[in-house]
Amino acid sequence: MTKAPTDNLLDYDRNHIWHPYSSIGANHPIWRVSSADGVRLKLADGTTLIDGMSSWWCAIHGYNNPAMNRALNEQLGQMSHVMFGGLTHDPAIKLAKILVDISPKTIQTVFFSDSGSVAVEVSMKMAIQYWHDKQHPKKQHFLTVKNGYHGDTFGAMSVCDPITGMHSLFSDTITPQYFVEAPRCKYDQPCTDHDIEPMKEALAAHHNSIAAVIIEPVVQGAGGMRFYSPDYLRRVRSLCDEYGVLLILDEIATGFGRTGKMFASEHAGIEPDIMCVGKALTGGYLTLAATMTTKEISETISNGNPGLFMHGPTFMANPLACSAGVASLELLLNSDWKEIVQNIEARLTIGLKRCRELDCIEDVRVLGAIGVIELKEPVELSQIQPKFVEQGVWVRPFGKLVYLMPPFIISDNDLDYLTEVLYNVLRQHCT
Ligand SMILES: *Cc1c(COP(=O)(O)O)cnc(C)c1O
Repeated sequence: MTKAPTDNLLDYDRNHIWHPYSSIGANHPIWRVSSADGVRLKLADGTTLIDGMSSWWCAIHGYNNPAMNRALNEQLGQMSHVMFGGLTHDPAIKLAKILVDISPKTIQTVFFSDSGSVAVEVSMKMAIQYWHDKQHPKKQHFLTVKNGYHGDTFGAMSVCDPITGMHSLFSDTITPQYFVEAPRCKYDQPCTDHDIEPMKEALAAHHNSIAAVIIEPVVQGAGGMRFYSPDYLRRVRSLCDEYGVLLILDEIATGFGRTGKMFASEHAGIEPDIMCVGKALTGGYLTLAATMTTKEISETISNGNPGLFMHGPTFMANPLACSAGVASLELLLNSDWKEIVQNIEARLTIGLKRCRELDCIEDVRVLGAIGVIELKEPVELSQIQPKFVEQGVWVRPFGKLVYLMPPFIISDNDLDYLTEVLYNVLRQHCT
């Protein structure tokens, strides 16, 4: 018997292609997407799914967006790539200018790279080079909180949560860093001296070898979808100043309006020394990230020894990706994004509230356009995901977390449908 062509392709995929955090040859369910438009993913068999994930925080304007398409097509006719060593171009300059304009005031310079993980590597190297040029060559380690996620390359891995990041597996290769307990004060709570004590003790003991504190502001993403108090972040900022340590904010997930502010640092009213952006930067069209810093840091590195910042990716500031970034940010800035995110927040809050009553649910929390349901036990992905797909929605739970972060352009009806399906599937799951 001959197999349907669809099966052949899926078989090939299963046996030859790695997916994120996956294994080869495993019989996990996987779906072939043939196109996507607005908030809908169209599968090869013709069914459509409402997207609750924004392709991991990225696709804020939805898919196949006409304005984005136009910008990309225009840039394609000019040039899709040119090296960035000794050359520059308008898409990079325009994007850098927008980024500097919307960032905290002291953030003035932009280093473009290919992905969030690389932006984090770059931020760590900047912090080390800065202290080297300040005659503190011993400041080469980093302090962070548990439950963090900063990417999958080695430097970034070293500051990810040691347990969920499986540090034991890579123990001889991964650089040991300093970790303290994740903040326990919740988003709407103040922090006590007790909450910040571990961070303070670690800084007091090790500041001579610490280049920077690196942390996701207010929302810890892939390390547990936890929302913590802006008060904690404010205290971290002042401790960093007190102990002569830089503050790196990883805004890769939180940036560009997702939490209700342009950047999550604004919840706390603080400014970082270095910040990383990525994910929604190009509206989900192409991979691009940036590491941004203050004049004080960029000038110290530029006037130091060797007087160069030691990083330069081949595809640095790729013109297509930069023009996608410009188009995406113009769309965002010309929209009523604050009201839009507030509306999503309100509807997520109402729509997910009743999940609290289910026996197997530990917590339900919403911030901006992020809705999280935390279960008491981990879900079996290969069991639960097909149930969502059967109901016409795309969500991708991990561990104990089932969560939504829809494109900003989602309609009220589609959003209500997403929360309704979540409730119905989880109700079934809980019994
Ligand atoms: C996704 C993410 C990264 C890594 O970005 P990649 O583009 O996947 O390399 C880093 N930090 C945070 C907070 C993220 O959410």
